[in-house]
Amino acid sequence: MDDSDPLLRLTDHGLFCEAGNFRVDPWRPVDRAVITHAHADHACWGCRRYLTSAEGQHVLRVRMGREAVIDTSKFGEAVDLGGVRVSLHPAGHILGSSQVRVEHRGEVWVISGDYKIEPDATCSPFEPVRCDVFVTESTFGLPIYRWAPQAAVFAEVNAWWRSNREAGKASLLFGYSLGKAQRLLAGLDPEIGPIYTHGAVEKLNRAYRESGVPLPPTQYAGLRKGDWAGAMIVAPPSAHGTPWTRKFGATSTGFASGWMRIRGARRRKAVDRGFVLSDHVDWHGLLGAIDATAARKILVTHGYSAVVVKLLRERGLDAQALATRFEGEPDSNVAPEAEPELDDDPDANPDAGPLFGEEKS
Ligand SMILES: [Zn+2]
Repeated sequence: MDDSDPLLRLTDHGLFCEAGNFRVDPWRPVDRAVITHAHADHACWGCRRYLTSAEGQHVLRVRMGREAVIDTSKFGEAVDLGGVRVSLHPAGHILGSSQVRVEHRGEVWVISGDYKIEPDATCSPFEPVRCDVFVTESTFGLPIYRWAPQAAVFAEVNAWWRSNREAGKASLLFGYSLGKAQRLLAGLDPEIGPIYTHGAVEKLNRAYRESGVPLPPTQYAGLRKGDWAGAMIVAPPSAHGTPWTRKFGATSTGFASGWMRIRGARRRKAVDRGFVLSDHVDWHGLLGAIDATAARKILVTHGYSAVVVKLLRERGLDAQALATRFEGEPDSNVAPEAEPELDDDPDANPDAGPLFGEEKS
């Protein structure tokens, strides 16, 4: 192993494996792109050829269009790219999300893309992969970020929906259209009322259903008129505050994101309720995932990379920040610059938290 000639290195176009002549999640069009997942900061448009997991092919197709050349491999199945052995392993982030394992001359790198440890109903669960060099995200790489079990969050969401229904209001729930929205849908209790979706969400719901992910029945909200009281509408954050939302009449708004952990996030987003639900690993999950790789070197990308690198070095690990263009959880403009304050104590009774005493009139 020679660190002066690494198996992958950063270039203008992204993380490049010269031996196999491919890039992982390039941010500019290239001939051969190996894609961890279909979010825009990891899957750039216009590459000549893509390799993605079989599980992720439908969602990548929605993003890249009919003409794109998309090769697939099953999780764990090795593909030879120019003499380099490449295999994809579940990352648990969104449908089809993969860690890319690259093996050449006895050295193994794993590029994890975005990942999450807690299994959910909409994608294959994260699997630790042993390697020499581990490239990890650090979107929520601060000790304050720890997630409650998702079942507790979904119970909050459903209770909120039920009380809105009783108050004669519609529930307008914002979550990123690829991944978060489908995870929210899978956690909703369809007995409470009808579920409608924004067009951007419904398009991806189709890809999820085609891929065999069970979601509750949803209807496209676009064409419907009439009474929305008691309904749930799932929409991307970009729809918030647009004329599109006016037709729903009396609504309560909610936003599901890991950033909702931070004091003031809900207010800055101008929503009635914040739900702390992230598709990224939390602090303890991050450190556990790094340990499980047994890697001799850790390269830390997008997020709190300086904090994570410092901690890993204190623990005697060889860690370095890697300056990529990945962005982590979308709509992260509520991310604090430093020392964020918690919005509530996740161990406390959620009904007693400050989020829940402030009903907007
Ligand atoms: Zn992502």
